[in-house]
Amino acid sequence: MGGGEADGAAALAGVRTQAWICNAWVDARDGQTFATTNPATGETIAEIARCGEAEVDGAVRAAQAAMASPAWRGMDPHARSTRLFRLADLIEQNADELAALETADNGKTWFESRRIDVPSAVATFRYFAGMADKVFGRTIPVSGPWLNYTLREPVGVVGCITPWNFPLNLASWKVAPALACGNAVVLKPAEQTPLTALRLGELAAEAGFPGGAFQVVPGLGPEAGTALVTHPGVDAISFTGSTETGKRIARGASANLTKVSLELGGKSPNIIFADADVKAAIRGATMGIFYGKGEVCAAGSRILVERSIYDDVVAALAERAAGMTPGDPMEKTTRLGAIVSETQLERVLGYIEAGKRDGARLVAGGNRVDRPGNFVEATVFADVTNDMTIAREEIFGPVAAVIPFEDTADAVRIANDTLYGLASGVWTRDIGKAHTVAAALQAGTVWINGYNGYDPGSPFGGYKESGYGRDLGVDATIEKYTQVKSVWVALDG
Ligand code: NDP
Repeated sequence: MGGGEADGAAALAGVRTQAWICNAWVDARDGQTFATTNPATGETIAEIARCGEAEVDGAVRAAQAAMASPAWRGMDPHARSTRLFRLADLIEQNADELAALETADNGKTWFESRRIDVPSAVATFRYFAGMADKVFGRTIPVSGPWLNYTLREPVGVVGCITPWNFPLNLASWKVAPALACGNAVVLKPAEQTPLTALRLGELAAEAGFPGGAFQVVPGLGPEAGTALVTHPGVDAISFTGSTETGKRIARGASANLTKVSLELGGKSPNIIFADADVKAAIRGATMGIFYGKGEVCAAGSRILVERSIYDDVVAALAERAAGMTPGDPMEKTTRLGAIVSETQLERVLGYIEAGKRDGARLVAGGNRVDRPGNFVEATVFADVTNDMTIAREEIFGPVAAVIPFEDTADAVRIANDTLYGLASGVWTRDIGKAHTVAAALQAGTVWINGYNGYDPGSPFGGYKESGYGRDLGVDATIEKYTQVKSVWVALDG
């Protein structure tokens, strides 16, 4: 398969529509379903099982049983590792199908699904496959006649709740490390984009994961999501999504003291100093906001530009945005796809109106595209002040807010003047300034002279209201998906 409508049709002909529980397809108990639609056409792709309390309970019980079974709890770490490597291989072998499902469900371009998202998921599974047999405790020198050592044990049943912007990729960020550490997983994908998660469940069984190690319960947030968060059999929740929902989840999980980690929204500053390689910075800033249609938690949605180069940068950003015509996501050459849903499109258009109302200067885009599906133009607002709504709230769409600044202190002040703290970018040729600003930024990630660099080995997560806990990286992962047991052995007993 090489992309194009015919390939998409082939992948969609076989979509999985039921819940995946204990390595078997299961309907919702009362036969209820919800529709998942193709945002580029508005057509329904499939009716999906609408899981509620009963199905989530079934999935959690299956996971609990796996955590007590020789088949999963008793599986040695090398065998877990082998299965994760096998799952990575299977994702790679089915990359065309998974990319087609992702593009149809989310509206992102074939280029992004096939070239970035699926290969990233493969890399993530391989990385954590390599970690499965390298999770260990320590021996600790203590006083008295004791031998003291620690064991790193799985947390237990991990509930993963993922958003619609990187459905397979963000699932891999959670599922791969949780399984590597020996946990059993129940994944609730976003209602807009359940298709690749369901296929992942099936591929995991093919890779040799026993029943109960990994389930997928599609459904709505307030139903399946809430049921998972409040289930007493769930030991940890790993969530990525909006800050508002993250707060609700933290409150819900507190009733059972369920461990929670939250990767939430952002309003990330991308700071361009006058001494930067300005051409590279403009390219990076364009990609930083328009990649993934701007539906990216780390999107560089506030572009801060030093006053002396401000007019030139605004003109160049506007020109680049004007060249990004939204189009059929399945076409190999398209670089700006469809907004995930009608609701999200309305939100984005609402923010564009707010920008105009607040007095920002619209220099590119600003309109819904006149064609079927949820398409909006790449939009750039200049002369934005940091108190405007479009500079304060996460838009989650292709809308850039360009803000001038006077000097380094001013840039840092504006950058940090936000509730969020997920990511940031700094563009300068002055190495001292780059590191000084990196240290001053209140954000979980700083990219210097680049943007959107990711690797399974490097931790990702937020400061402030962008959440707590980290995805990816060795230390953060072990901290999140294991618990430590201290064992004391009396040597004179
Ligand atoms: P949410 O954060 O609400 O959704 C993320 C996930 O949480 C989905 O699987 C969702 O399920 C689930 N969920 C929703 N409510 C609950 C709940 N009460 N308990 C448990 N799980 C729940 O994002 P939305 O899809 O509603 O998008 C709204 C806005 O959030 C966007 O416009 C965007 O600004 C922001 N957003 C930010 C993301 C980020 O990574 N920073 C990711 C996604 C959205 P379901 O989809 O079925 O409702």
